[in-house]
Amino acid sequence: MKASRFLIPTLREDPQDAQVASHRLMLRAGLVRKVGAGLYHLLPAGLRVIRKIENIVREEMNRSGAMEFQLPVLIPSELWEKSGRWNTMGKEMFRVQDRHEVWNVLGPTHEESFTDLMQQVLRSYRDLPVNVYQIHTKFRDEIRPRFGVIRSREFIMKDAYSFHADEASLDDTYQEMRRTYRRIFQRAGLETVPVEADSGAMGGSGSEEFMVPSEIGEEILLLSEKYRSNQEKTPVIYNESLEAGAETKRPKPPAIEDMESIDTPKIKTIEELAKFLKVDSAELLKSVLYRTEHGLVFIGIRGDRDINEVKLKNHLKCSELEPAADEDFKKIGSVTGSAGPFGLKNTDNLQILFDLSALTRPHWITGGNARDLHVKGFWLTDEQRKTAVDLALAVDGDPSPAGDGPLKAMRGIEVGHIFKLGKKYTEAFKMTVLDPDQKPITPIMGCYGVGINRTMATVIEQSHDEKGIVWPISVAPFEVCLVSITKTDEEKQAAQDVYDAFLKEGIDVLWDDRDLRPGVRFNDAELLGYPIRVTLGKFFFQEGQAELQIRKSGESSKIEAGKGYSGLIQEIQRIRKELFEELKADDS
Ligand code: ATP
Ligand code: MG
Repeated sequence: MKASRFLIPTLREDPQDAQVASHRLMLRAGLVRKVGAGLYHLLPAGLRVIRKIENIVREEMNRSGAMEFQLPVLIPSELWEKSGRWNTMGKEMFRVQDRHEVWNVLGPTHEESFTDLMQQVLRSYRDLPVNVYQIHTKFRDEIRPRFGVIRSREFIMKDAYSFHADEASLDDTYQEMRRTYRRIFQRAGLETVPVEADSGAMGGSGSEEFMVPSEIGEEILLLSEKYRSNQEKTPVIYNESLEAGAETKRPKPPAIEDMESIDTPKIKTIEELAKFLKVDSAELLKSVLYRTEHGLVFIGIRGDRDINEVKLKNHLKCSELEPAADEDFKKIGSVTGSAGPFGLKNTDNLQILFDLSALTRPHWITGGNARDLHVKGFWLTDEQRKTAVDLALAVDGDPSPAGDGPLKAMRGIEVGHIFKLGKKYTEAFKMTVLDPDQKPITPIMGCYGVGINRTMATVIEQSHDEKGIVWPISVAPFEVCLVSITKTDEEKQAAQDVYDAFLKEGIDVLWDDRDLRPGVRFNDAELLGYPIRVTLGKFFFQEGQAELQIRKSGESSKIEAGKGYSGLIQEIQRIRKELFEELKADDS
């Protein structure tokens, strides 16, 4: 490709609204342009990167024995009604009506579509297991699209779905996908950390996310030598005993007169209360009220702990969860900022729960359910003690569930996800195949996603410097950039000869033949991050030596071009091989 015929609209200045390095560099390097919130045009150089990532994913999926399909992005709502997700997906799903006023979904994911299709084509246990996938566009109306293509509203995903006769077969494919994902990310030059993830309230039995460690990550990972999980899933293990006060028989909850009243003028938060009373927040019992589709939920949790909403949602088996309003506090006979888990009115299906941290003390200071009032000496009943559950968010420094010391917190960006789905969809679609005794059985499913655009952006997050992108050779828009600094027509012709020779050898090259100052073209080459740069300057035209520079190391050398440029071509191929060698998957 000649740069003079190829459009790479680079920007000299940093774009205004790009907060993170990858977004900034993708805009500056002319890989993408913004169209609207969470919507990006892919320009030719950006699309070349996307295609290379897709091809790595495709090769590795095919190698694992999976089959590629392509299903419509537009999905009749009927399929989503069958699974029940028409009602539970909420506002993240784009819904469109066609001219016949029939509702359709712009697919955010394709469990329904693939289950529907597989139901039609799979007949017998002999057809199982299968793993089917596509690399295609997804739509999600994200609340907060941000960081460029890392969280956008339209993006490309590789989504795979496997179908099995039994758990053991599902586990085989799940393990195969783990290896496949490792290979994919290694080949793309992306360092990832696989962590255990939440598998939801619905039937899932195993889930792992592939995380790219990054300051800008929205996920928090908690890691030890033997334990790696997403914060949303990590159980909280207490150094303190959970037996405090267990021996005091308390069949009944305390009434207000059983406790000592404390005036707490204008105190609203746990931090203010701890400061006012000159106690540690771990001596206070915090009250949190949520509204779900089933009604109100009141949770008592130690003052130094926060609720893990994923755990809470799973425990309640609810799909909607939001902080309750001031009116809700009123309704249950309490008040925002001074609520306590006793003497509450049972309206709106009120459920009172305690986090395990509420077992670490025999008595608590908590809200008095009246403005500016707290109470001292609150206790949990025996029943409340018995039914306390882990609803707290684990944090840096908490004991590792594997028993190997404290957990370390780290931020990460999720690029891939593998998940044992169970029978949720096959049951909803009444999908069966015949077993060896000709009896119908319901297949078990797994699903496996990789975000293609997000992978592109995270590669840049991990691999850039002050000059621009430093592409791993496997996903670079071009492997080689040829810059020619010519003055005469003969020199121009000689550069053309070199370019032709490169093409003949199948070198993936962009020839920057533009009529621009060398400095401008060098800057562009560094911004675009081509792994190998070949410069044809004075030395070449006079003495037959080309300059060869490696973007990653900055190393530069003069190479004797040789007859028919064979010396130069050989050296390029040697470096290319070396750079690919670094990206070789470790089980190949
Ligand atoms: P997140 O928690 O980041 O919203 P998710 O759990 O919704 O991700 P999945 O449904 O598991 O994501 O989708 C599989 C993959 O698709 C993710 O691992 C990610 O790489 C990619 N992905 C998901 N949402 C987006 C998005 N809005 N923009 C770009 N890529 C996305
Ligand atoms: Mg999401």
